[in-house]
Amino acid sequence: METFKKLLRLSRSEWPQLGWGLLFLSISSVALLAYPHSIKRIIDEAIAQKDQSQLNLAALLALGIFAIQSITSALRYYFFTLAGEKTVKRMRARLFSQIMGQNITFFDKQKTGELLGRLSSDTAVLQNALSVNISMLVRSLVQALGGLVMLFMTSAKLTVFILVIIPPLGLLAARFGRKVKAISKRAQDALAASSGVAEEGISGVRTVKSFAQEKFENNRYDERLEISFGLSKEKIGVIASFTNLVSLVGLSAVVFIVWYGGTLVIQGEMTVGTLTSFLLYVITVAFSVGMLGSLWTDFMSAYGASGRIFELLEKETENIEVGIPQIKTGRIEFNDVHFAYPSRPEFPVLKGVSFSMDSHETVAVVGSSGAGKSTLVQLLMRFYETDIGSILFDGIDSKSYSLKGLRESIGIVAQEPILVSESLFENIRYGKPDATLVEVQNAARLAFAHDFITSFPDGYETLVGERGVQLSGGQKQRVAIARALLKNPRILVLDEATSALDAESEHLVQKALEDQIGKRATLIIAHRLSTVKRADKILVMQEGRVVQVGTHSELFKQETGLYHKLVERQFENSKENL
Ligand code: ADP
Repeated sequence: METFKKLLRLSRSEWPQLGWGLLFLSISSVALLAYPHSIKRIIDEAIAQKDQSQLNLAALLALGIFAIQSITSALRYYFFTLAGEKTVKRMRARLFSQIMGQNITFFDKQKTGELLGRLSSDTAVLQNALSVNISMLVRSLVQALGGLVMLFMTSAKLTVFILVIIPPLGLLAARFGRKVKAISKRAQDALAASSGVAEEGISGVRTVKSFAQEKFENNRYDERLEISFGLSKEKIGVIASFTNLVSLVGLSAVVFIVWYGGTLVIQGEMTVGTLTSFLLYVITVAFSVGMLGSLWTDFMSAYGASGRIFELLEKETENIEVGIPQIKTGRIEFNDVHFAYPSRPEFPVLKGVSFSMDSHETVAVVGSSGAGKSTLVQLLMRFYETDIGSILFDGIDSKSYSLKGLRESIGIVAQEPILVSESLFENIRYGKPDATLVEVQNAARLAFAHDFITSFPDGYETLVGERGVQLSGGQKQRVAIARALLKNPRILVLDEATSALDAESEHLVQKALEDQIGKRATLIIAHRLSTVKRADKILVMQEGRVVQVGTHSELFKQETGLYHKLVERQFENSKENL
């Protein structure tokens, strides 16, 4: 009931349309209920009396009723369906912005596929329920009840007789409908699962072929197909047997009515026309009752879907506006920061990290993988809050800044930069949507991306991603650097690519970065030690702690220190690679 109220509230601006829908529905229902009566008049008053002009009139009347019925029926469908589509469109938009507004912790816990499911399939179920199903529900209800009244008015005796037959018939049909639907759903899920397997195989075809595992993939897909086929077979069996059973029972009921009604006609208690219209009403009622049964299942699944949707719609979103709007100079301090990811609270990732960097300093963070380097960046961006300790910008607690301002003041180049499927121009100005082409070009020059971009036939208008060019790792990174520099951020954060870039790209990325050194606070998460030599300060991290701080030459001299070991190890590796 609660969910129903919420839905009604959500579709508030569609109420006028729903009102029109209801009006046309009433008219079309009345017309539909009037038509057996007009048939009765044709038979009893025109045919039986052999009166041609009466027959013409009655036939015209019947045609008129049909015309009204079909026009109002079309309008009913139009208004109800449109209202449903509009509500769902609004719901989808809200749901998406709600998802986007969640903090990062939410995304750690939710699977992308599940969220997409809510956005597409849950809302589709609801769309069906809100548009087609509601209009069918109201129509079926009106017709079942109206038909029943008409039955009584046409012949009370026969009605009492068939009331014994209709309910079990309706129940049987509903049960059958439910059964088919349940199997259909399982068959659908099985088919979706098989598509999942196919997708893995096709998208990973290079891996499959390189391991010569075509056969394995074929078998995996065959197995899934077999399951889905089994369910389809079951469904076919149910439909084959039940459909015929239901129609047998239904047709027998018709025979009974004709037999009993015929007896009444012979006894002079009823006319042939009345019997005919009675049969037509019976069909209307039986059809509507059957429809109500199958609608019930649809509404139950819509109820489940809307529960999941509202749960998400009612979640609080991050307020990114409140707080100090900007970081002024970019001086950073970490004070005894302790942190564990909310999804793994028992596993401390940072265990008391303290350091500071000035607004024009370049600080590099090194350490073995898993030491907590990238986590520093996550906390800097306030994707997560510290458990103990604090992070200060310009001496002010990071929590006092607005999330928007804080993030706008920081330019970040991620390890694997994500480019959107838009032009290179749009990709570079992602963080500053009002930037001009000249600004974009300047940023691209600073990032050594201008030359390769202009070498494309479409230049800055070149599309990226699925629909456009695939950039190399180094090119992507330079686009990402241009994107970060365009914002002219107070703080620049570089999470270096781990995968080795090609030598040329690496050289250019390096040059781009070196040009920036000293212009702003720059924090480099260094995976290659070659980058760190020019840093003002190097932090060496181990298991969530900063174990050494100093310049390259200072740290390298400490032969027992971790830094010395890391450098030696990397030197060894690069020798092996030669
Ligand atoms: P580094 O960058 O030094 O390689 P990270 O900061 O990425 O290390 O990771 C430090 C530790 O935190 C690792 O043990 C990693 O498994 C864990 N970790 C990283 N991200 C998450 C996350 N989103 N949820 C839970 N644990 C995480």
